[in-house]
Amino acid sequence: MDFKEIIRVIPDFPQAGISFKDITTLLMDGGAYHQAIDALRERVAHLQIDLIAGPEARGFVIGAPLAYALGVGFIPIRKSGKLPYETIEVGYDLEYGKDRLAMHTDAVRPGQNVLIADDLLATGGTISTAVNLVRQLGGNVVGAAFLIELEELNGRAKLPDVEIISLLSYD
Ligand code: IMP
Repeated sequence: MDFKEIIRVIPDFPQAGISFKDITTLLMDGGAYHQAIDALRERVAHLQIDLIAGPEARGFVIGAPLAYALGVGFIPIRKSGKLPYETIEVGYDLEYGKDRLAMHTDAVRPGQNVLIADDLLATGGTISTAVNLVRQLGGNVVGAAFLIELEELNGRAKLPDVEIISLLSYD
């Protein structure tokens, strides 16, 4: 299946110069969504995974079905102030803006193998923050899986010690 034909590209969103990859057109196509998650499951099959961590909100729509398909748990990584229990937080820069991400302090136990999942790797700021949170709790980051990688931004260079898996790349 040619996923790129299904993903819609919106020029100048959310600001001039950004070519936004809109995955909602893939998510609403049941067959395409299913095949995309299955393809990611195959690409991470060689990894030992105890848990998948996904940053809100699109990390949930990739990470949670992938966790279900693998039969492992899912950890939500959320914006500051959203999680109800005790949290750790890390601030970071986005491709367009700044934010803080948080995780429950009991989400990962020391030594657990965690795969990070998100829809898209751009500058790598989000994923570095997720890696930082998991490692602060003593987890092993065994890889990071994405539907899309924006190659030009070279986000993977921020994480030379993490295996980066992406289904599709755009220049
Ligand atoms: P990074 O932190 O610069 O790697 O940006 C990745 C984060 O921004 C992900 O959580 C994406 O959901 C979001 N993002 C950045 N660019 C796009 C895009 O073109 N389409 C969809 N999401 C994007």
